[in-house]
Amino acid sequence: MSEYVRIIALASFTALGFALCLLGCGRDSVPETSAATTGEVAKADTYQAGKVHSNDAGSGDWPSHGLTSDEQRFSSLSQINRDTVKELGLAWFRDMETNRAQEATPIVVHGVMYLTSSWSRVYAIEALTGELIWRFDPKVPGAWARRLCCDVVNRGVAVDDERVYVGTLDGRLIALDAASGSVVWEQDTLVDRDRFYSITGAPRVANGKVFIGNGGAEFGVRGYVTAYEAETGAQIWRFFTVPGDPSLPFENPELKMAVETWKGDEWWKFGGGGTVWNSIVYDQELNQLYIGVGNGSPWSREIRSPGGGDNLFLSSIVALDPDTGVMKWYYQTTPGDNWDYTAVQDIALADMVVDGVLRKVLLQAPKNGFFYVLDRTDGKLLRAHPYTAVTWASHVDMETGRPVENPGSDYREKPTWVLPGSTGGHNWQAMSTDVAAGLVYLPTMENSLIFALSDEWIQTGSIDSRVARWKPGVELGRLAQLILESPDAPESVGVLKAFDPLTGETKWSVKQDYYWNGGVLATAGGLVFQGDAQGMLSAYDKEHGEVLWQFNTYTSILAPPITFMVDDIQYVSILTGGGGADLWGSGSPTASYKYGNHGFLLTFQLGGSEQLPAPTLVDRTIPEQIDVAGPMEHIAEGEKLYNNFCAACHGLFVQASSGIRDLRLTSPERQLIFKNIVLEGLFASAGMAAFNDVLSAEEVRKIHQFVRARATEDRNVAQGRKKEAQMTWITTP
Ligand code: CA
Repeated sequence: MSEYVRIIALASFTALGFALCLLGCGRDSVPETSAATTGEVAKADTYQAGKVHSNDAGSGDWPSHGLTSDEQRFSSLSQINRDTVKELGLAWFRDMETNRAQEATPIVVHGVMYLTSSWSRVYAIEALTGELIWRFDPKVPGAWARRLCCDVVNRGVAVDDERVYVGTLDGRLIALDAASGSVVWEQDTLVDRDRFYSITGAPRVANGKVFIGNGGAEFGVRGYVTAYEAETGAQIWRFFTVPGDPSLPFENPELKMAVETWKGDEWWKFGGGGTVWNSIVYDQELNQLYIGVGNGSPWSREIRSPGGGDNLFLSSIVALDPDTGVMKWYYQTTPGDNWDYTAVQDIALADMVVDGVLRKVLLQAPKNGFFYVLDRTDGKLLRAHPYTAVTWASHVDMETGRPVENPGSDYREKPTWVLPGSTGGHNWQAMSTDVAAGLVYLPTMENSLIFALSDEWIQTGSIDSRVARWKPGVELGRLAQLILESPDAPESVGVLKAFDPLTGETKWSVKQDYYWNGGVLATAGGLVFQGDAQGMLSAYDKEHGEVLWQFNTYTSILAPPITFMVDDIQYVSILTGGGGADLWGSGSPTASYKYGNHGFLLTFQLGGSEQLPAPTLVDRTIPEQIDVAGPMEHIAEGEKLYNNFCAACHGLFVQASSGIRDLRLTSPERQLIFKNIVLEGLFASAGMAAFNDVLSAEEVRKIHQFVRARATEDRNVAQGRKKEAQMTWITTP
């Protein structure tokens, strides 16, 4: 079944699964468990000899992005546990006044919650009541939204020493006074403001320094990470992850070695990629900083580095000296990345017995589908088991440390489905590491993509280098058609797994209707919390994966839950609102599709009885389209233009389910000003920038023609006049 047909079929499927779950998934068959006392907390903790968990130290805070500096996201709090969780209820909620995706991990220090929402806005909130203390709006220009691959998101702040640090979408790093929210200092972190750089990740602060990277590899940028002095904002060092123009001096000495692994003479013009947009972890014990490095730009290595090469340090985990930025070691997960396989996913540090030896390890499940266990003293590979279905490589050779690629995953000859697809087997949604159990609770995806070399490259030997365009080097213009033509499109699914990184075994798993779900938190209360695309915040038994508790938020969830304790009461908090990197694939009947995308901040406690506003179904009646007639070839051209310039936000097949407008629902009045919206930026303040620098009036007319043709197809299906949409206007590449 094709992806497109499946998306439609999923509607009835999902609704059924949803109803069954409401009836059957929340039953309380609670196993025997230990008493929830603070004494138990201390005992549960002993495996962590020498480690400081602030939750454990009695403060109850959630002081940094991954809870502790080793970012295990495993809380020792256990007041909410297998026995008591059935009493868990909403203590308070706050409407964050956004319908865009929310991805942040809130920080809780001394009873105050610091978090970000969309547009890099920062909030300080009373953790006990949800009352606003202050709000800081960095006033990111609305038109900046066009520079983002994946919506106007932010994954959180860092808090240290009465300061709050935030990176903004438009590339600024700002230090705020924690008490007042006033600006202490502000730095421009971008090396080139004309290229489409952005910041969505949380800064990390350690040893008097603030560390931040950026994103933008889909648009063609060159990745780097920078350290700033926390006190003043002065730049200390900068580490570029990929070499620039080889005729210029190397900015950091490691690039001399890296440049030998790049071929051709074009990569630095595209930027090369290698952005550090998510994981930056400071190792207190070894005084090392680990950065997760992103995919190549363009994705296709045939275009990026013709003739091969590993393309260091793409898709790598790199250890740096945090004081100087000098590299200590690296491990490349995907040499010569060809599939958007970032290694920016969250990194956890732990002490684990591996083959009889207690080792200081680093754990990561990058997009490529293998779970890496490295010795973090020297980067030595200890394990690399697949954590999900993988078709691009057969295995990782433990002698060489390199993946063994399957020849079938090379898409130069013909379009090829590859697992994992570009969303990865795991993305930025956080995992939780349970060292005592030897498990990670991992939000995984089986979601493949059909890769094909770009038609433009095949026909002209070049790709459009304009900065305002996605430049993956794989065919986007015909992507929907490639999916429709493919007889063997695999099913997509999300799977929450309790995964043993040393044996590669999955202890238990929970299958989810939709692949794009939230981050994970596990606790010493025996629980694994996760929010999902269907709007459920669930607590699973960490022994068996059985659902012990659920709360329906009626909106999709991506952000990870956190937990904290104030005045001897344990709380669980989470942000809601879906979207993010899933905008391409949206249109499925998730909670946000059915009930709208709502940005709430929710906080739960035992006995909580607050209620969210009653959900209302979104009216998805597609209005009659005006002036639909037009030459088929114009619609076909419009489809290619739409997929190249619009689909990353408005969805492939013109189906959008999160906070970004579903263009099929455009009213007749708005259809009359479609051209003005796209070319002149009528709604630039909401993120819809003017495209007059890359699109002509004639091209916009063709895009509009295609949008109306798609809307008409789906209107006919909805009204029973057609069985399914065909999209038959493109017959040849
Ligand atoms: Ca990417």
